[in-house]
Amino acid sequence: MKTDRTQVGIVGAGPAGLMLAHLLRLEGIESVVLETRSREYVEHRVRAGVLEQGTVDLMNETGLGDRLRREGLVHRGIEIRWDGRAKRIPLSDLAGGRAITIYGQQEVVKDLIAARLAGDGPIHFEVGSVALSGIDTNAPIVRYRHEGTDRELRCDVIAGCDGFHGVSREAIPATGRTEFHHEYPFAWLGILAAVPPSTEELIYAHHERGFALHSLRSPEVSRLYIQVDPDEDIERWPDARIWDELRIRLGLEGWHLNDGPVIEKGIAAMRSFVVEPMQHGRLFLAGDAAHIVPATGAKGLNLAVADVRVLARALAAWYATGDAGRLDRYTAECLRRVWRAQDFSATMSAMLHAYPGHDEFTQRRQRAQLDYLATSEAAARSLAENYVGLPFD
Ligand SMILES: Cc1cc2nc3c(=O)[nH]c(=O)nc-3n(C[C@H](O)[C@H](O)[C@H](O)COP(=O)(O)OP(=O)(O)OC[C@H]3O[C@@H](n4cnc5c(N)ncnc54)[C@H](O)[C@@H]3O)c2cc1C
Repeated sequence: MKTDRTQVGIVGAGPAGLMLAHLLRLEGIESVVLETRSREYVEHRVRAGVLEQGTVDLMNETGLGDRLRREGLVHRGIEIRWDGRAKRIPLSDLAGGRAITIYGQQEVVKDLIAARLAGDGPIHFEVGSVALSGIDTNAPIVRYRHEGTDRELRCDVIAGCDGFHGVSREAIPATGRTEFHHEYPFAWLGILAAVPPSTEELIYAHHERGFALHSLRSPEVSRLYIQVDPDEDIERWPDARIWDELRIRLGLEGWHLNDGPVIEKGIAAMRSFVVEPMQHGRLFLAGDAAHIVPATGAKGLNLAVADVRVLARALAAWYATGDAGRLDRYTAECLRRVWRAQDFSATMSAMLHAYPGHDEFTQRRQRAQLDYLATSEAAARSLAENYVGLPFD
């Protein structure tokens, strides 16, 4: 058994773990990042792509913004379609000039790994048998296996940034945590296609056959989604059927959907999940390890970044002064934003998806909501300020 020591042991090299390592380095705090997957895998995992203004600002302020400024696509509005109508929500006009930026999660991960390696920060990929112990003590330990050797990492603090299926959350005794789960009666079938987007701004469509979203990743690559059943089999969806369905659900007179080669496709469940508290002793959970939101509000990646921003500041204050006040308030500070995002994501999901059974009451309510959004500046402003992300402080 080989033993190493660091200040903060970070489990998981997704956006939460990597951003935390980056922010801690800027504060002069040492960390070691442990990741079960390979570097190649995490740098090519296609997931989110909408960055809130606050995420973009943080990347710029901390020296991660070069490629983001060159390649990120700044969007100042989104379009909502239903019943053959289209309504643009002018996000920036309604939300004090704030905007969203389209930049793939895998690009954020690449930038963070490059920054980590440029600063000689330790990061171990393809680790196995990760187990946390001593989180109730002042010297917690992460045990793991790497390159055929059993290792132990002694830390002051462990950050559990290992996603929804990681091991960190389970290290908190069941009696010490409350979990809130909500499953939605639909899932998203998403494709990445090598075809120029048919729109300059994202299109969210409500249709009786189900929700559809036209997003994008670059001027050459489109990202599109359709609502499917949670137990849908991807084999039943050859590319031609997906394009046909997208054409119907996104359809608008005079508008044309470009189709082309599908590079990747998959089905993602829609769920809401929160664990409270997000900390126990010397273990702090961040990102998907602590909460999941349905993708409709584009909040998952942004919440992960917001958590570690709070955690990095709290750790910096603790190391500098010995005052644990901000660390103690970590859960409360994060949960305010997390539950706001849960509410926004659930509201957007309920407004835009077709519910099984096509209950007439629900359909009429959805139309009333969409009509209100189209005619009330107050309703549109509320959507805009949530969509671009609430300011940090
Ligand atoms: C299929 C899919 C599609 C999504 N699409 C969208 C979208 O369109 N829009 C949006 O806003 N959000 C989307 N999300 C959500 C968004 O991607 C996440 O919220 C975001 O990745 C959270 O970052 P994270 O760092 O907390 O977790 P993750 O990105 O999950 O990172 C956790 C890391 O920990 C590693 N790990 C797991 N277990 C261990 C262990 N035991 N030891 C060490 N490492 C471990 C994992 O390999 C992973 O690299 C999607 C998520 C999924 C799964």
